[in-house]
Amino acid sequence: MIGIVAVSHSARLGEAALELALQMVQGGGVRVQVAAGAGTEPDGTPILGTDAVAVAAAIDDLAADCDGVLVLMDLGSAVLSAELALELRMSDVPVRLAPAPFVEGLLAAVVSAAAGGTLDAVGAEAAAALGAKTGQLGAEPAAADVDPVSHDGTEAHSRRVLVRNPLGIHARPAALIAEASAGAEVRLRRLPDGPEASAASLSRLLVLGARQGDEIELSAHGADADAALDRLAALFDDGFGEGTAAVEVPVGAVVEGSVADAADDVPAASAPIPSGAVLRGRGVSPGRAVAPVRHLAPALPEPDPTEVIPTAERAAEASAIEWASVAVADQLRSRTVQATGETRAILDASRLLASDPELVSEATALVRSKGRSAARAVWETAGAHERGLTALGGRMAERAADIRDVRDRIIAEILQVDLPGLPESDEPFVLVATDLAPADTAALEGGACVALVTEQGGPTSHTAIIARSLGLPAVVGAIGASGIDDAAMLLVDGDRGTVEVDPPESRIAEARADAVVVPFDGVGELADGHRVPLLANVGGAADAETAAAAGAEGVGLFRTEFCFLDRVDAPTVDEQVAAYRGVLAAFAGRKVVVRTLDAGSDKPLPFANSDAEDNPALGVRGLRIARRSPQLLDDQLRALALAAAAESAQVEVMAPMVATVEEAGDFAARAHAAGIDRVGIMIETPSAALLAAELFEIVDFVSLGTNDLAQYTLAADRLLSELGDLNDPWQPAVLRLIGMVGEAGRAARKPVGVCGEAGGDPALAPVLVGLGVTTVSMTSRSLGRVAAALRTASMEECVAAARAACGAATAHEARDAASAVLLDGHPA
Ligand code: PEP
Ligand code: MG
Repeated sequence: MIGIVAVSHSARLGEAALELALQMVQGGGVRVQVAAGAGTEPDGTPILGTDAVAVAAAIDDLAADCDGVLVLMDLGSAVLSAELALELRMSDVPVRLAPAPFVEGLLAAVVSAAAGGTLDAVGAEAAAALGAKTGQLGAEPAAADVDPVSHDGTEAHSRRVLVRNPLGIHARPAALIAEASAGAEVRLRRLPDGPEASAASLSRLLVLGARQGDEIELSAHGADADAALDRLAALFDDGFGEGTAAVEVPVGAVVEGSVADAADDVPAASAPIPSGAVLRGRGVSPGRAVAPVRHLAPALPEPDPTEVIPTAERAAEASAIEWASVAVADQLRSRTVQATGETRAILDASRLLASDPELVSEATALVRSKGRSAARAVWETAGAHERGLTALGGRMAERAADIRDVRDRIIAEILQVDLPGLPESDEPFVLVATDLAPADTAALEGGACVALVTEQGGPTSHTAIIARSLGLPAVVGAIGASGIDDAAMLLVDGDRGTVEVDPPESRIAEARADAVVVPFDGVGELADGHRVPLLANVGGAADAETAAAAGAEGVGLFRTEFCFLDRVDAPTVDEQVAAYRGVLAAFAGRKVVVRTLDAGSDKPLPFANSDAEDNPALGVRGLRIARRSPQLLDDQLRALALAAAAESAQVEVMAPMVATVEEAGDFAARAHAAGIDRVGIMIETPSAALLAAELFEIVDFVSLGTNDLAQYTLAADRLLSELGDLNDPWQPAVLRLIGMVGEAGRAARKPVGVCGEAGGDPALAPVLVGLGVTTVSMTSRSLGRVAAALRTASMEECVAAARAACGAATAHEARDAASAVLLDGHPA
């Protein structure tokens, strides 16, 4: 590893340049020492200057664990001090003084060092760091800016990608490219005849001048070439996490699902919503809660677009943006320190955005060139970034709230006004907002908010992710919610995606009773003592701990994709092992059924689902991703085997979205080869249900994913609340398919689990058991109610109820027929 010493006359300059540089690599994998300033006056005022002894000490400090040290200097005597330090130092590690610009050089050197560059490479990177700026301002690049080509003589692998993000390859994407290409020698060429650059070189990547819509040819050599190209292609496809606004939208094309589209249909924000109304959105975090509404305070007013700052005052006005962004980043940093898990990661991302050099430099440029006020410049710059994200909708549009949040924070800091934020209340309330900023959602932890309702957002928005991690019922996409009267009482149902305004007393009482979690004693059994283990569905370690505390007998479904929803690049095997061990540790000695990544459709993972599909629910999702990326599956199986070896839980592994016997066979072979003993599959397609007998010849167990089984049997998108009546596990067609699987399980003497939402329905659980289901898995809070329902029925009654339900012609009749047997003791 190459260490870097930054020598500056000013401690503040040194620290600020370092902060900027470390953001390029998110602080990881690089050692940098700042030797700056010449001490302080007795009153604490910093003395500007440089100190050769401090520079020598910084070099010696790095020498212990670095193979070489690059020294960057700001001006004049900094160079003299660095030269003198070479005489004074004690260590003999190779040291190079870089004839490089201080800030740009430090950025380029840090990125190159983090990507594993040699001292030569890191030095060359720093020296060429002015290339991007020179090129951008129209000057000829220096001769040294010509990027040398070198490779190991092996055959090149190549790929073409499109620059999709609105801002093209600027510093942050360049740093991501350098990081993702580590381990292979990758070059990029702007097509058809643009310049070429090494992926390891931040400065040369910037000189490419690649803008949105440009096509880039990637070519790679080395053992890791294909994997590096996969990682890079995924980054480009995802727009480097910055959005992939349609480069060219053909005439007549419709950008589906964008916030902008939705907004066109939204009634005016102030349109009053009457008592008794039921708003429908998408339930993204389960549970029901009832409480008075509190609206999120409105955003800051738009700064005056006509104000023009006199030329003489523009420099001072522009510096207000820089100071404000540093102050906001500091505030968010201090909140990050107190936060944990998901919340911490989200605050961290906002902090990076607040001090994003692109955002700050574009805004200050607007002040300098056009005389915009500082607040207006930030508003306009953030607006451009936000439009880029919202234009294409979907997952990227959900990130627009992050930009608005940071914009408002910076403007509030510039104007020294209070930031609009969460309502303060000690009484329970339902928070209603157009959309929630990540930092606000993060601040909900431990507060009086009992549920969330937003007009925008989707299942992977931060609102959804944090609501799930805090256990708050949440409905997003509830159009018109901001028109709900301030005095209204709301009943939020996160399972059904409904928001009832001023519901009748009887509904409130029902919801309150429902919100009371019925305790579970840890043993699932029928009235006749027949055991039906009750397991939990979890998405990560926090869920697993909650489930264990709730008495779950094991985990029936660990949705591993939930651990990596926000990842642009595939998690490493080590990262996966750490995530999986967190869940296994909570169930020491007990069964944990882990599902391999079910990416795609409603849960897209950028690193696994790179292409947009017309019918994602019918596309390359779940196990089908292994057709394209077998390594992704093999790595996950290896990580699971390692995690299982390190913990004492009884690990079983199953694949999602299996349709054929060949798919099951291939999966079982891979899982066994990775060292996994018990292998199963989910039954989520009618095909798998019909082939259950053949599938049991291959696998040790199956688990019915009734959410998808209903979706595919009824051909009804499970995300459309309008088709909720079709996505109902009580539909006789679904029940009959479950019965076929149960029958095949009985014949094969192998377990049949249920892990879809149907498992948490106390009325349906006895019917499922009667159909041949042997274990039932659900969210932890449903365990007590399901256990109580099962204890009221014997196996004989369960079988009778199942027979009655299956014989019905409609979902409604199936419910009635089952309850007639179970509650009244005779068929309807
Ligand atoms: C299901 O489809 O029922 C299931 C459990 O999987 P998911 O809801 O994660 O698709
Ligand atoms: Mg499913």
